Amino acid sequence: MRSSASSERRETRMNAQSAEVTEETRVLVVEDDRGIADSLVRGLRQAGYTVEGVRRGRDALTAPTPDVVLLDLGLPDIDGVEVCRRLRARSDAAIIAVTARGEEADRVVALDEGADDYLVKPFGLAELLARMRAVLRRRRPVGPEVVRHGPLALDLRTRQVTVGGRTVALTPKEFSILECLTADPGRVVSRQQILERAWDAHWYGPTKVLDVHVAALRRKLGVPGLIETVYGHGFRLGELQPGPQHGAPS
Ligand code: CA
Repeated sequence: MRSSASSERRETRMNAQSAEVTEETRVLVVEDDRGIADSLVRGLRQAGYTVEGVRRGRDALTAPTPDVVLLDLGLPDIDGVEVCRRLRARSDAAIIAVTARGEEADRVVALDEGADDYLVKPFGLAELLARMRAVLRRRRPVGPEVVRHGPLALDLRTRQVTVGGRTVALTPKEFSILECLTADPGRVVSRQQILERAWDAHWYGPTKVLDVHVAALRRKLGVPGLIETVYGHGFRLGELQPGPQHGAPS
């Protein structure tokens, strides 16, 4: 019953750095393009997920039920939308449909057939990880959806940020940086950890780029002392004195 593809499943998770995000979350990657599949499987494993990769629709339908399915809609055997429909009929796994550019009709049908979200190729690992966190949060509404720290409130579902009730428009990178810091207020988060989370699993470029985004973030939030620089290490959220109203952009 089980196909040969499932032998790949034995490979273990690597790297527990982001364990708090994933907690044994199982991902099924359904992708017939070997190059894309290999890099997705590798990247997701390095992000701490337990990953199985299969190349055909029928293997996807016989694989053990995962938490998230990353489903390429262009498969060699069964139409991806049909796979989506059948997966949805028998499990409540989150499904992210993956399509090539220009396959908008498929995307719409996949959403109608129960996919939770979709990605258009080519996409980066950072974007994929963000989408996965989002669908998982929607699927299991455990844990707070809104993180608060002093006057700051971060809605992890809608990715909306307010300071003292005032909405602050952030770029996706700025939001990701803030999300890293609010995950454990007071703890120092290293520059490398932030870069890996907000940019990509592998960032070997200059870390100066982070300072530029943090400076913009501080300016937009307008709360002195909210994001502290810990020299030689990284950043953390500072303890805020209760008192005068924050939030006026200065
Ligand atoms: Ca394909």
